[in-house]
Amino acid sequence: MDVIASISTAPGIGGIGIVRMSGEDCFKVLDKIFEPKKKEKIEDIKGYTMKYGHIVENGKIVDEVLVSYFKKPRSYTTENMCEINTHGGNIVIRKILDLCLKNGANLAEPGEFTKRAFLNGRIDLLQAESVIDIIDSKSEKELNTGMKQLQGQLSNKIKEIKQEIMDVMVNVDVSIDYPEYDVEEVENKEVLNMLDSVQAKLEKLEKSFDTGKVLKNGIKTAIIGKPNAGKSSLLNAILHEDRAIVTEYEGTTRDTIEEFVNINGIPLKLIDTAGIRENSNDEIEKIGIKKSKEIANTADLVIAIFDSSKELTQEDIEILNLIKNKKAIIILNKSDLNTILDVNDKRFTDVTKDIVKISALNGEGIEDLYSKILDMFNLNQINLDNDIIITNLRHKNLIMKAIESTKKARETILQGMPIDIIAIFIKDILEDLGAITGEYVTEDIINEIFSKFCLGK
Ligand code: GDP
Repeated sequence: MDVIASISTAPGIGGIGIVRMSGEDCFKVLDKIFEPKKKEKIEDIKGYTMKYGHIVENGKIVDEVLVSYFKKPRSYTTENMCEINTHGGNIVIRKILDLCLKNGANLAEPGEFTKRAFLNGRIDLLQAESVIDIIDSKSEKELNTGMKQLQGQLSNKIKEIKQEIMDVMVNVDVSIDYPEYDVEEVENKEVLNMLDSVQAKLEKLEKSFDTGKVLKNGIKTAIIGKPNAGKSSLLNAILHEDRAIVTEYEGTTRDTIEEFVNINGIPLKLIDTAGIRENSNDEIEKIGIKKSKEIANTADLVIAIFDSSKELTQEDIEILNLIKNKKAIIILNKSDLNTILDVNDKRFTDVTKDIVKISALNGEGIEDLYSKILDMFNLNQINLDNDIIITNLRHKNLIMKAIESTKKARETILQGMPIDIIAIFIKDILEDLGAITGEYVTEDIINEIFSKFCLGK
């Protein structure tokens, strides 16, 4: 394939910047712009080594660099590759990239290096997709999941399921070819058993997507409550928790801030925290019911907080009404004071069974809140370290299609259809599974997947 080049480090000023090239002739391009301190023939340079020297244009030094050499097939793309480590400044990196392009390289498209790794057979499509997940990870658990997919855990599972199908189908094919052997009855039973087992495995994978989604996007969480209930105190208690890793994102509307908090592996995306903060010292400006309703409607989880040292007011009742039929946790705050509201109060239990007593002031009960959240999102049933988790919607849709095909195949057997009709549905299952790993995909899908990558990857 032709030589491609790209800047692989993030835009902006940094200590170093990397320009990367891949392709059979990339060392020829390099040779035209790089003057190593100690000249050696390319055949004598081993893969996985670095050389010091200068990038030179018309006899003039452009920058002092280190170049890493990777020789085919032992490289990211399985092609010859090199990486020029330059000083990290926009101008110098850009200049070196331009020199590569002037001397025979083509500008790489986003994801083209990883696409080559896939097209050259080093990784399957699913592993390539996990590279995006790793780059985009917002929590350690998400990173782990991405890494395990890159290492082939999910690919192996899919292969295992396909093998299970094929082992049975080999016998079926024999009987299609030699119909005089009447083995159909035994076979049908065998096929049914296989379908049951395959379906159960696929359903387990499909179910894991909910967890995957949570790991990927975080649980969109809204904290609501009337003024002085303790919203900003709870927010602070969560944010100042030792184990909380906090990342701030620009919200979707202009002046909201979304904070991504990661506690005990639970990624929470707190909505409208700016609203809570800004207004916390201003009685009149406090978030009103209307606004609370808006926030609650966009959330995956609503945490409604009440001051348990005071009788409920009309405003509290309205808040209780608006969380009815929502995924919500009721918090009875200020447990350190003389409390008059408790968890058995029917006004609460009518709304949800998820009620936690806490003191946002001294942190009492915060752990209970976290374990409640884990429960509600089934995060503690899944063993995050061992179970295989689907995080990609494309994979989920294909798995759902495969499940449909297992059901159809089963129906066809029960209707007494001939085995060659059944085999058609079973081939569908194999094709859907093959589309996940990239054996059966169209070029359009491949292009769409790689277009989501960043430049230089
Ligand atoms: P918000 O208006 O809902 O954001 O409420 P704040 O977090 O600003 O809290 C209102 C008042 O209640 C402040 O004076 C807090 O210090 C106090 N407060 C909040 N949580 C607790 C708690 O758990 N115990 C006690 N004793 N006071 C609390």
